[in-house]
Amino acid sequence: MPIHQAFHRDMPDAFNLDRAGVWFSLCCGAFDPISLQIVALFDDINTRRDHYEVINDEPTRESFPKVVERIKTLHTHARSRDLSSIFPEGAALTVSYQGTNFELETLFDLVGWIFSVTGKTPDDATPANYYYPLVILYSQWCRTLCAKIEKEPQMVQITWFPQESIKRVCLGSNLDRPKKLRKDAARLKRFTMLHTDGLAEEAELVDHYTGDGGQLIGHCAETFPMLFVKSLGNTVTMTDVKGVAVKPFAALADGLPDKFAVPNTHELRTTLLEDPCDNCKVVLPRLGHINLDNFSIHNL
Ligand SMILES: [Zn+2]
Repeated sequence: MPIHQAFHRDMPDAFNLDRAGVWFSLCCGAFDPISLQIVALFDDINTRRDHYEVINDEPTRESFPKVVERIKTLHTHARSRDLSSIFPEGAALTVSYQGTNFELETLFDLVGWIFSVTGKTPDDATPANYYYPLVILYSQWCRTLCAKIEKEPQMVQITWFPQESIKRVCLGSNLDRPKKLRKDAARLKRFTMLHTDGLAEEAELVDHYTGDGGQLIGHCAETFPMLFVKSLGNTVTMTDVKGVAVKPFAALADGLPDKFAVPNTHELRTTLLEDPCDNCKVVLPRLGHINLDNFSIHNL
């Protein structure tokens, strides 16, 4: 069952992208039922992994309980307005993606991992009927889980590709809005993984391509999708890898008539979406024969 269909059927409230609705439930309820629903769904996926078609790989499935536990802990912090809930102090969580271990630190990375390993991507998936709605849902749930501390990713990204005959998605977010020290620590962990995989060079720990004041490599929402794809080796044909980055503040803005619809004008695409930055234009091709046009906001 595609992840978004399962979610829609089981918990229509979580599909309410109306910001006013979220705030209403936060202000007027003793608790926020939508974010609790999302966490309850993660629990349900954990106990019924076949039903939700979690990737059939033992190390991935073994990681599920600890990811859900960590999300619950961070969510509890967020609900008590603890600002460390997105960038927690302490160790990152070691989590498997199809047999390769990664260090996941932020709440948004953990939720992105769940989206990346849960649900069979439909054979007829397109940006319009699956990939874009899925990344919008991811954005919304990150926003909802952290609503009490008014945090959300400034950029999210979805990458999609066939792994041999199976369609896959990977989702991630950038590292915006933590305190500088926490952000630097998280970015360094990401950079180290990129460097170990040959996707970043040592000098790029401090050198970057994004101009004065630009972000360093490891910051971007593309980071975990790139690392996950790289870990799959030659089971992925790089020319088939596609993706898009989305700006949640714009894509979930009030007044947009259908937030799940792929933006269909030049103006909307430039407002809601983002082309790979100058860092990603260097790092993405290191995966192999990547076609950067497959990541253009105008080719979605
Ligand atoms: Zn980038």
